[in-house]
Parts: sequence; C-alpha cells; structure tokens
Amino acid sequence: MLFSRTPAVRSADQIAVMRRAGRVVAEMHAAIREAIAPGVTTGELDRIGREVLARNGATSNFLGYGHPPFPGVICASVNDMVVHGVPTDDVVLADGDIVSIDCGAIVDGWHGDAAFTAPVGTVPAEVLRLIEVTEASLAAGIEAMVDGNRIGDIGAAVERVALKAGLGVVEGYTGHAIGQAMHEAPNIPNQGTPGTGAKLRVGNVLAIEPMLVLGSPETMVLDDDWSVVTADGRWAAHAEHTIAITPDGPEILTLP
Ligand code: MG
Ligand code: MG
Repeated sequence: MLFSRTPAVRSADQIAVMRRAGRVVAEMHAAIREAIAPGVTTGELDRIGREVLARNGATSNFLGYGHPPFPGVICASVNDMVVHGVPTDDVVLADGDIVSIDCGAIVDGWHGDAAFTAPVGTVPAEVLRLIEVTEASLAAGIEAMVDGNRIGDIGAAVERVALKAGLGVVEGYTGHAIGQAMHEAPNIPNQGTPGTGAKLRVGNVLAIEPMLVLGSPETMVLDDDWSVVTADGRWAAHAEHTIAITPDGPEILTLP
C-alpha cells in the first residue's frame, strides 16, 4: 500500500511570507519573459534572474540544488527538453524555439517556485496550442485545490485537460508541497484518480506543475545528469505555480 503524507498546514502569517517569495518569483518571470528573443542565451536569462533575486534581498533555491549541484538560478529547457535545462551562454535562442523557464526564490526561509513556457519569435500553431493547453491544465489543477478535495483530484484535473486536447502528460516528474524547503512531501502527480490520496486542507501550500508533450510521455536524462528530454524528440511545455488553499479557495502566490 502506498502512503501519501498529508501536506503541512501553514498559518496565515507563514503564507504571507510565502506570498513575498512568490512575488519575487513572479518578478523574475516578468523580467525573463521580457528578455526572451532570438539571439539571447539562456545564460543571459539566468543573469537576469540573479539580478531580480539580488535587488529583492532574496536567495535562490535552485542554485546548488542536488547532485551535481545545479549551477543556475533558473532552469531553461528548450524545445524537446522537458525540465531541468542548465542555463548557459552556449544555448542561443532562435526564432521558432520554445523555452521553459523554471525558477524560485527564498525569502526569510520560505520558498516560492514557478515555471512558464514562452515562444521565441514565431512558432507553429500546434506549438502555441501545446503551451496554452499546458497553462489550462495548470489552471484546472489549481481549481481542484479546494479544502476537502484529495490530491488525486488535482492530477485527475490536470490529466483530463491534457488528454482531451490529445497531448501526453510526462510521468515520473511531479508537483510537490512547498514551505521551508522547495520540495516537501507529498508529491503532487499530474495524473490521478478523483477522490483518492491525502485530503487537502486550508493552509496547504502546493506547487502544481504539469509537463505536457506533443508526442510520447517517455523521457530520458542527458549526460549532464540534469537535462530531461523527451525520448522521441517531440516538444514539451511546462507551467507551474505555488498555490495556497485559503478559506476563500486557492490563491496563486507566484503572481505579481
Ligand atoms: Mg519549479
Ligand atoms: Mg516545483
């Protein structure tokens, strides 16, 4: 039997600090989104992220994470790369690419984490739709974050939107509870059966992060031990927010 730990319950004061961390992440997103253009390197986007963290007195929960220690404050994943792309001046964005940016911030010990996927210049309609459906699946997952619902309701909502649009949902990478660590138990899968899993409560704070693909959901990790790419080379999109369950329903903390 699988045990799924119940997500921690945060006080309103703790959520207020997480909201500040979330706003820093939103500011990173806005600055990076503005800079995304043909000819820009993902290393330049990482430096923009560092500037935003510094001017807010915030620190990165990505830099130094894991093994080998992650070298950036953002993940920048281009085209068939799903997540965990290492930012570098060797990767120059080109017209027709898409890039997924995932980043986070720590403020007073509390974490925020969010991701978006953006087109670089002009991309085919099919690719724009991939991005839009990924965002819609995130929105559906957030809507399921209601006191008394269960974790399986979130994954079921994400999956329903993706499958209805004929897109694949990457397996093996999930959302997560978040608080004084970026990745807290339990994981929040992007697949699920309604009415199953741990019960959701007011005060839970979760990062929901669908990863959708045009082709097969199978992935592999490159030799840098970070970059996750689709096995079939078809393109992928990623969207994520950090969300609190409040008495009034879900509140996205990683918005401006
Ligand atoms: Mg993230
Ligand atoms: Mg996350």
